Parts: sequence; C-alpha cells; structure tokens
Amino acid sequence: MKCPFCNHEDTQVLDSRVLEDGDAIRRRRRCLSCDRRFTTYERAELMMPTVVKRDGSRMSFDPSRVRASMELALRKLTVPSQEVDAAIERIRESILLTGEREINTEEIGDRVLEELLKLDQVAYIRFASVYKSFNDIDEFVQAIHEMQRVIEANNGRAAKSSIEKKAVKKAAKKTTATTAEKNQRKK
Ligand SMILES: [Zn+2]
Repeated sequence: MKCPFCNHEDTQVLDSRVLEDGDAIRRRRRCLSCDRRFTTYERAELMMPTVVKRDGSRMSFDPSRVRASMELALRKLTVPSQEVDAAIERIRESILLTGEREINTEEIGDRVLEELLKLDQVAYIRFASVYKSFNDIDEFVQAIHEMQRVIEANNGRAAKSSIEKKAVKKAAKKTTATTAEKNQRKK
C-alpha cells in the first residue's frame, strides 16, 4: 500500500481491527519513509444491487417488501413460515450473486414466482395475476399453462434423473454379478 503523503511504496500495518458490524476491517498504517500515519478501510465489494422500478425510480432492496407480497399471495394457505423465510433468503442470495449494480423489479418478481411455484400453485397464480396485471381471462389461462409447462419441465428433469439413477444401479448390479461369477469360477 502506497503512502498517500510521499508515495513511498512500503507501509507498515500497525493495527488491524474488524469494525463492529463485521463488514469492514480498519488498518492503521505507518509510512516507512516519511513516518506519517494513515488509516485504510477494507470492505467486501458484494453489495445488493439497486432496485429499478417500472417508472425508472430507484430504491434499495427491501426483503420486507418481498415478504409482504409473498404473504399476500400465500394468505389462508398452509405454507410453514420457515419455508417462506428460506425462499426469501434464496431470492436475496440469488440477487446478491448476480453481482450487478442494478436489478429491475420484474427480475425480482420472476424470482418470487419461481419460489412461489415450489411453495404453492395457488399462491403462484395469485402473485402472477397481480404482478403481471392480467387484463382478461386469456392472460389468466396463459399463466396457468405457463405454470403447468414449468411444472412438467421440472418433473421431466426429476424423472430423467431417476431413470439415470436406476440405470446406474442396474449397471452397478451387473458389475457386482460379473465379479461374483468370476469369483465363483476361481473356486
Ligand atoms: Zn510517506
């Protein structure tokens, strides 16, 4: 780390401490050439992207808003709150992991839909009807078809992987059998 006073290349760290909230480290440094002292702060660059609303206005990401809209969609349904908490955490994490500076509300809505589909199909349709603001029955029907398509695609993947697992098991059995036969022959 360069000295900000004399530009000398080498500085000595006198003291490092993690700040109270744990998201930054403060270091006291001393320049080995001019002996002046200064402080540096080290922070992780991961930040929640700014949310861009449909009208172009910006706001910071607020998980309580996501929760409110999910709870509205889930009202009177019997989804345990820890499952809702876990879903919100997955949404927050997936947004953080984009590494983008900005995210629009539509993208967040898509992630909410994805999670609601895992929780409850009625909640999915409720959320989609508000968020995609259906204008007529056709759009409603379309949303249901879209949901069925996603469910079938997911089931297809699950079925395929279970077929693969069975094939692996079969192959494993065959190998075991062949080994057993060989052992038999040896005797
Ligand atoms: Zn210096």
